[in-house]
Amino acid sequence: MAATSWSPSSWKSKQAAQAVNYPDQDHLARVLSKIENLPPLVTPSEIERLRHQLSAVQRNEAFLLHAGDCAESFDACTQQNISAKIGLILSFSLILIWGARLPIVRIGRIAGQYAKPRSSGTEKIGDREVLSFRGDNVNGLDPNDRTPDPDRLLSAYFHSTATLNYVRGLLTSGFASLHHPRDWSLSHVRSPALRKEFENIVEGLSDALDFTRTIGVSSGRESANYEKGGGRSVLGEVDFYTRQVFTLSPTGLHNGTCPRLMLNYEQAMTREFDVAGASPSPSSPLSSPASPPPTSTAFYNTSAHFLWVGDRTRQLDGAHVEYFRGIRNPIGIKVGPSLAKEELIQLLDIVNPDKESGRVTLITRYGAGKIEDHLGSHIKAVQQSGHLVIWVCDPMHGNTLTSASGLKTRNFGTIISELTSCLRIHAACGSCLGGVSLEFTGELNDEGFSVTECLGGSMELSEEQLGLRYQSFCDPRLNFEQSLDVAFLISNHFKQ
Ligand code: PEP
Ligand code: MN
Repeated sequence: MAATSWSPSSWKSKQAAQAVNYPDQDHLARVLSKIENLPPLVTPSEIERLRHQLSAVQRNEAFLLHAGDCAESFDACTQQNISAKIGLILSFSLILIWGARLPIVRIGRIAGQYAKPRSSGTEKIGDREVLSFRGDNVNGLDPNDRTPDPDRLLSAYFHSTATLNYVRGLLTSGFASLHHPRDWSLSHVRSPALRKEFENIVEGLSDALDFTRTIGVSSGRESANYEKGGGRSVLGEVDFYTRQVFTLSPTGLHNGTCPRLMLNYEQAMTREFDVAGASPSPSSPLSSPASPPPTSTAFYNTSAHFLWVGDRTRQLDGAHVEYFRGIRNPIGIKVGPSLAKEELIQLLDIVNPDKESGRVTLITRYGAGKIEDHLGSHIKAVQQSGHLVIWVCDPMHGNTLTSASGLKTRNFGTIISELTSCLRIHAACGSCLGGVSLEFTGELNDEGFSVTECLGGSMELSEEQLGLRYQSFCDPRLNFEQSLDVAFLISNHFKQ
């Protein structure tokens, strides 16, 4: 496809899968012009640093952990929830570091993930047919509050700001220090075996760090070096990236004439900057680029570091792909069973014509029963095309089912089955899995209990227990214990 000129609004000439119908267009225009003038949530140099780190992942010198909620809600933007989410991401990465002996690049599904994917434009509540709830940035969960309201976009901006501010604050004030892992890890985990296994890791890493400190090995930038045992406080100041969801409902959903909600917001947050070189720091694969890119300008989406397009919104000639091809941020593409290998390569040619490393992450989500039929041929097609991609396994989205009681759930065993098949197929194709993408939460209820949304795991959560603390208003998430089970599995895989 010949590249035509791009601008932050060129997506408007394309068909957007999923759109939201705002009844008051003037109101929407006022809100968008306000957002255009609000400051960036993330900076170009952070985005460049992530690109650089993802390029280390692509070379198998680091591993990507990409995780969090399916969709966030405004009400869940609390101190406890944010600390619990970051705590789980830190605990998970520590286990991975221990097994894989690789730096971990973390991207949270947090601080901007307010849209909810829906398969239908309306839903039946009681005897009323109302517009579907599309996420807190569109309309309200209350059936009487379903008219899309542009002010919710502003509210999303400010909730993202509050979340990011607190995450940045936590990570720069010692929350992540290995000297206080109990602040963010296992205080509520009831399984003695899981606790013991985790404590052994923390002790082992602490000892290793004490040793390196004693013999005088230290480094300036611990965010880039903690994995090598060089930092003052291990996870003292970790890099942490946010992820923006670019998936709404499947195509074909109702009135295609409406304005494209998410893209309007993303456009308002797209700003032109000099291509930023981050300050050089030569000692780790994750450190900043040694030589900044030549001076030129580029468009950065400043609402999140990493953006991704959903399996149902990645049409070659669609608005999302058009928007994606022009921004400098690293991007993710969900890859499901319906993506033909030729189309995958065409997609890569469009969004990454120069075949730059670190630019594209392919997040595969076939389902445990289908991965065998598709992953190998996708890998081979990409190898033959010469594109450099990061392969990430999302073992969640192809494995969703409805329980007998009507709750949307996922089975731990099936999730593990897709993950282990993925590792095996990559190895067989001479490829390497670069990361995992999970929906998980460290969220606890008032009595300190984890959520009960996925079945199985070492806690053997049963169908009868699903209703106990089912809190997701979108897809079912692994809870703290189930997530650590996954972390140990990956960690053990790398240790062998
Ligand atoms: C998601 O990751 O929440 C999602 C909806 O993904 P997919 O587009 O792969 O279904
Ligand atoms: Mn989801």
